[in-house]
Amino acid sequence: MEKHIEQIECPECGKRQIATVLHTMPWWCYVHDCVSCKYTIMESEWVLINTEDELKQIELANDVDDE
Ligand SMILES: [Zn+2]
Repeated sequence: MEKHIEQIECPECGKRQIATVLHTMPWWCYVHDCVSCKYTIMESEWVLINTEDELKQIELANDVDDE
């Protein structure tokens, strides 16, 4: 299954973490359990916090993932 990763911030505890977005049909699956407080973060609470440098690193990681 196609997927990519994004860096998000937990709305409950503020923990920054990497979440995997699954490219499910018809919509991508934005669901992630917080690694710190176990809160389930849904698409409506998805807070992207990528800086440009972090985005580059994530793109590199995604490139590796594709191979
Ligand atoms: Zn949390």
